[in-house]
Amino acid sequence: MRFLLCNDDGYRAPGLLALATTLRALGAVTVVAPERNRSGASNSLTLDRPLRATLVADGVFMVDGTPADCAYLALTELLPEKPDLVVSGINAGENLGDDVLYSGTVAAAMEGCLLGTPALAFSLASPDPTDYAGAARIAGELVQKFIAEGMPQHWLLNINIPNVPAPTLRDAQITRLGRRQRAAVSIMQRDPRGRPMYWIGPAGAPGAQAGPGTDFHAIAAGVVSITPLQMDLSAYATMPDLAQWLRN
Ligand code: MN
Repeated sequence: MRFLLCNDDGYRAPGLLALATTLRALGAVTVVAPERNRSGASNSLTLDRPLRATLVADGVFMVDGTPADCAYLALTELLPEKPDLVVSGINAGENLGDDVLYSGTVAAAMEGCLLGTPALAFSLASPDPTDYAGAARIAGELVQKFIAEGMPQHWLLNINIPNVPAPTLRDAQITRLGRRQRAAVSIMQRDPRGRPMYWIGPAGAPGAQAGPGTDFHAIAAGVVSITPLQMDLSAYATMPDLAQWLRN
């Protein structure tokens, strides 16, 4: 079994190291990860300069690019053979609801899926993640499930693991993406020369669409959330109204 392991927190991130240890017990692992934290990079590709991939240890490449760059380079160039599964994470923090649109963790997995390999994205839902042991164990159980059962090529699973002492796969819920409230406003500060500069504000709290059946709800209940994702953002329900709107 061959695994490609990516993330968005950088090749030295503790969540990635924990997942690498778990995967190495189950097969051959190649790590291709950003040289620094690229959280929030979403699906961006680096198109304005070339990329460098540096072998920093046996089977570990760091790339001076985005998470999607990493998965793309790995699958088109760096790996001698197509992996059976792309695994991304374990992200330092949750990727719930709207977060999925910005997440580099999910993007690396999505790039794998776009290039024809099923993919799992793992995130530890904690504001201050330090202990990845429980999340790595859940990841290991899911990958063992993949080894036993296989997985359709188009499957892309977004897995959030609650920050509880002993999460179990038995209690996991299959969820849909919830929604957050509006993001907080940007935060303006002044540089030493008095010029304004801005920080993107924190993500919004879970909103009205965070009830039963959503990823937010599962995590709030302390259980593992597994959301199957698809790339098709088409708003099918809007099509009849749009057709009517155009006709009016
Ligand atoms: Mn991250």
